[in-house]
Amino acid sequence: MVHEHAPRAAARSRRHPGIAYDDVPAHLERVEPGDPEYARVRSTYLRGGSPGLVLRPGTPAEVADALAFARAQPVKLGIRSGGHGISGRSTNHGGVVLDVSRLNTIEVLDKATRRVRLGPGARWSDVAAALAPYGWALTSGDYGGVGVGGLATAGGIGWLVREHGLTIDHLRAVELVLADGSLVRADDTENAELFWGVRGAGANFGVVTSFEFEVDEVGDVGFAQLILDASDPAALMREWGAAVEAAPRDLTSSLILGRPQPGQPAIAQVMAVVDADDPETVLARLRPLAAVAPLFDHQIQILPYAALMAVPPGPHHGQGEPVSRSALADHLTPELAEAAARLVASGETHFFHIRAAGGAVADVPADATAYAGRSANFSLVAFGSSRAGLHPLWDAMRPHFSGLYLNFETDTREERLHDAFPEPTLTRLRALKRRYDPGNVFRDNFPITP
Ligand SMILES: Cc1cc2nc3c(=O)[nH]c(=O)nc-3n(C[C@H](O)[C@H](O)[C@H](O)COP(=O)(O)OP(=O)(O)OC[C@H]3O[C@@H](n4cnc5c(N)ncnc54)[C@H](O)[C@@H]3O)c2cc1C
Repeated sequence: MVHEHAPRAAARSRRHPGIAYDDVPAHLERVEPGDPEYARVRSTYLRGGSPGLVLRPGTPAEVADALAFARAQPVKLGIRSGGHGISGRSTNHGGVVLDVSRLNTIEVLDKATRRVRLGPGARWSDVAAALAPYGWALTSGDYGGVGVGGLATAGGIGWLVREHGLTIDHLRAVELVLADGSLVRADDTENAELFWGVRGAGANFGVVTSFEFEVDEVGDVGFAQLILDASDPAALMREWGAAVEAAPRDLTSSLILGRPQPGQPAIAQVMAVVDADDPETVLARLRPLAAVAPLFDHQIQILPYAALMAVPPGPHHGQGEPVSRSALADHLTPELAEAAARLVASGETHFFHIRAAGGAVADVPADATAYAGRSANFSLVAFGSSRAGLHPLWDAMRPHFSGLYLNFETDTREERLHDAFPEPTLTRLRALKRRYDPGNVFRDNFPITP
């Protein structure tokens, strides 16, 4: 970390052209190539990076100062909270990263209404741990290392999604620094259209500096890991999908298939959370899932939601660029299951993950937020190693899809915007972009052209 303007000559020699280092406001915490801290902040969880400058504001006013500086630089700009972006490029090469990870407070605002305020830099593991003593939880994702900022501006498909909906469905207000540096609040009455857009396309309109949520009462939950025979993967996906859709909303599940290994039995990993702490209910919910294919192994625990989300903190050392494709689907139809089985058999994906996404998500009208894929019961993502290998196979599956949750997608082609934001959502978002970010300052994550 360098607070003053006198970096050593060696560090200075690693500076990137195009960035006016001497103009960085002196009060801002900054890390640049050559600083000892640089190795800890250059990359994100899945992406290798070599930014020219990482600014780490500690207050909303400092976010505005950092943004004013960054806007004036003719280089890329990435906004970073928890550094787990997939679609969001929160690191870059030679550009500026505005890292709000220091804005990581978790406060209870009102016990009676279960209103909490979260900083964008808090991790979902920390949020779960902080809410646990109150007997509360906020549905987020399935991995506690993910940050609040990137997830809560896009959707949030987590372990309690079928029962409690998306994370954004619990959002009651945000504060954000807009492209012009102003700090505004947005909720259902104040800047209501902006609040609509932040819930699904938030990365386009500003840097969110705090989120106010209404959280739920959640006690211990059942958590199961089942290893199932995947020798007929299409049948497995179909049956699992039907079992998930038929289950009460207190069950949420996901299914993972990997690249077939020669000489090894084909297996799938099914994970499930049941929001209940009595073993009978947990087992009753799990039985239909365990019956979709021969069961090779299983593990079932009843544990606090916070224990499920706990992950050790640490710096990120991602390398290269992740390659993933993603989609939402209303149902795992026989045609979709066959196509997905062919994709898995091709070896072009080493990690194919289907998450349940339905239930309470569909209780919210499609035009209530910028997340439009309310009819989808499933969110699919395939990670691969080559764009050339994955794209054609995934593109061919498009007729079976009903939309896109952008947070798992790395394809930057324009069609993806239409998948994620079908009309009239996209037109409404373009109007918001013209109003709040006509210069496209916020462009590191599915930028909506004004
Ligand atoms: C291992 C793993 C598991 C995941 N599991 C789930 C899951 O179960 N459910 C789910 O819904 N998603 C999941 N995701 C996807 C996750 O929601 C996104 O990757 C999300 O963007 C990560 O947020 P972050 O703050 O950690 O990321 P960052 O890399 O810090 O940010 C990603 C992008 O979000 C935007 N952004 C970040 N902070 C702000 C801010 N303060 N204001 C405005 N925009 C901002 C920027 O465009 C940025 O590029 C997972 C990702 C990973 C890597």
